[in-house]
Amino acid sequence: MTETLKCVRCEATYDPQKIRYTCDCGSLLSLEHSEGVSAALAATWKERRRERRGLDQSGVWTFRERVLSAPESDIVSHPEGYTRLYERASLGAFAGLSDLWFKHEGENPTGSFKDRGMTVAVTQAKRLGCKIVACASTGNTSASLAAYAAQAGLTAVVFLPDGKVTSGKLAQTLAYGAHCLAVRGDFDKALKLVREASDKSGAYLVNSINPFRIEGQKTIIWELLADLEWKAPDWIVVPAGNLGNTSAFGKALREAHAWGLIDKLPRVAAIQASGANPFFQSFTGGFKEQKKVTAETVATAIRIGDPVNHARATETITHTRGVVEEVTDDELMHAKSLIDQSGVGCEPASACTLAGLRKLVQKGIVSPSERAVCILTGHVLKDPDVLTSDKYGKGNRARIYTIDATSEEVAKRLGELSKLG
Ligand SMILES: *Cc1c(COP(=O)(O)O)cnc(C)c1O
Ligand SMILES: [Zn+2]
Repeated sequence: MTETLKCVRCEATYDPQKIRYTCDCGSLLSLEHSEGVSAALAATWKERRRERRGLDQSGVWTFRERVLSAPESDIVSHPEGYTRLYERASLGAFAGLSDLWFKHEGENPTGSFKDRGMTVAVTQAKRLGCKIVACASTGNTSASLAAYAAQAGLTAVVFLPDGKVTSGKLAQTLAYGAHCLAVRGDFDKALKLVREASDKSGAYLVNSINPFRIEGQKTIIWELLADLEWKAPDWIVVPAGNLGNTSAFGKALREAHAWGLIDKLPRVAAIQASGANPFFQSFTGGFKEQKKVTAETVATAIRIGDPVNHARATETITHTRGVVEEVTDDELMHAKSLIDQSGVGCEPASACTLAGLRKLVQKGIVSPSERAVCILTGHVLKDPDVLTSDKYGKGNRARIYTIDATSEEVAKRLGELSKLG
């Protein structure tokens, strides 16, 4: 067998073709590949980027030999990935770094990086013969699951914290045909419920404890490294909620390094909102304990108090000599307004990266001469309400001018605006 599910703690191994999310010891599982990347395979990957035919149009499945070996007919691909890298001098100046890039995962089909994991998890659900797929979600996982389940002809059931999912994400999840359980409780509660339900009912669970999700999300990093011609940046900065991405990034880097694709390891900086900062607290305590909090933040995508991927993510930070930082809601929303006004745009959680990076530069942890890449995890339209909210949307609302339908009023307004310019 070329792929095995292996416990991240006790190293017990399991067959990937049987449904299982955790080890008998209770820890998470990781899909391990028995072979690395030969020169011939690396050349194939390079060739596919140029041609982009069929499955190679997916930035996930272009790396399929080390993501999941599945028959092509089983693969449920939108396609996804091949997101772009942006450089904006104004944002570099704000962070205090001249070599700063943004990889925009909001350019995925449903507007967040979740599609990268979902294409693999739903493919696996199909191979395992499951008819119902389920997740708990702060909104983006549910939107992504709904889309891929629709494509695969599976029934999607999503557990959402009632009243805490943005209008854009809820509408999208419903549009693709998912059934929603609006749980009176937070995300952490919803996740407990869906884990229990999947154990009892056989619904296939696609939260980021699912090791196949992690395999798909690895390709954010591999694609980024390929974009940089496999010259690793000094830092990769990511928002951190349930820590699936932080875990996936560690695995992607560990494998790329072990397989000789890169010759140095970038350091991973995971950034949390200060109202949802259990991982930051664990980090400042030297990872001696796993902390839990009751989460509250404007960045709903990372409003998570008890991240399930804690162990795997700790390994990422330790192995890459990484750091964990926190930013306040005001700090992240200020960074978001700059990202939005640079024309790039992102959802609130994504902006933690820029706000956190600026802090790390100020603290002298990141040097101004280093190269950093921030991962923007979601699209600006994912949270339309915050953009005009009382707390954070006043500046935007002030640029709506309601006028009488006369050319005099138009001339007057344009005259005023030309003075501003
Ligand atoms: C899911 C999500 C996150 C958090 O990712 P984790 O893997 O749970 O840490 C951050 N930003 C956005 C936009 C998301 O959808
Ligand atoms: Zn184990």
